Amino acid sequence: MEATAAATKDEAGDVCVICLSSVTERAITAPCNHYTFDFLCLVSWLQERSTCPLCKSEVTGVQYDFRSPSDYKNYAVRSTRPPPNPPTNTLYRQSRPRLPRHASRRPYPPPTPDIALLRRRHVYRQKLFSLHVGSNRISRYRNLTPEMVTTSPDLQSRARMWIRRELRVFSFLHTDPEGTPSDEATTSSNAEFLLTYIVSILKTVDIKASHGHAEDLLQEFLGRENTRLFLHELNAWLRSPFTKLEDWDRNVQYRERLPEEFDREGRAIATEKPRRRWSRSRSPTLTRTAEWRERDAARRHAPD
Ligand SMILES: [Zn+2]
Ligand SMILES: [Zn+2]
Repeated sequence: MEATAAATKDEAGDVCVICLSSVTERAITAPCNHYTFDFLCLVSWLQERSTCPLCKSEVTGVQYDFRSPSDYKNYAVRSTRPPPNPPTNTLYRQSRPRLPRHASRRPYPPPTPDIALLRRRHVYRQKLFSLHVGSNRISRYRNLTPEMVTTSPDLQSRARMWIRRELRVFSFLHTDPEGTPSDEATTSSNAEFLLTYIVSILKTVDIKASHGHAEDLLQEFLGRENTRLFLHELNAWLRSPFTKLEDWDRNVQYRERLPEEFDREGRAIATEKPRRRWSRSRSPTLTRTAEWRERDAARRHAPD
């Protein structure tokens, strides 16, 4: 605790002009170069309006994740200014000359169809929330607070590991607004930005609070429904005792089994189609069985 206090003092004197507490993760506005902001505060501010909180000039980028004065990351800020000619009509789009894309001629290679990733996509498509596991000595699950994340480099690196893979689920993060795959630089900068952003959120707010602040902060990037599920799953992973994604994948439970096989489009292949053979009158039983299975699994994982 003392060490943390000393470390913060080094950078101190600096108070974030947005939240008025001392700066913990510095962010600098470009091009105006103002620096008395917390990363999370500044980015949340810029989502509302892309102007500097201090000098009101247009901000085009944020420098963050400083390892040294010359080693940091850059995030391109999307302008909130209304465009002079809103490109609502298709004519505008068609007549617009295509930009030369020499650097990105070769489209960003689609991620290799990794079965674990396809399953994660399936989870989002089907809106499957992993079943709750109670925290106790046997399950070794524990409940999480922002303080735990702030003080544990271990939790932070586990969070990063999981988030890095989970963000690959959302192909829209890897495409530019025209729908063509964006170049590698943009792609990795989007994902890197979100990674840092989410870890900052974890350190600041309680992600368990449903319909909470974390959800508001993230939904702009992932959409409301995805965000809700994403935060649920992230919390489940962080609460778990697992240190490897493979172990979590093997143990996490949903109300239905995740598929084993996928087609070329990445859609799940049903290995058997029991529904076809069953008459309509059987289907309520099916639902009840699924419910029962869910309740049973929940019971098995509940605290004693
Ligand atoms: Zn702040
Ligand atoms: Zn400024």
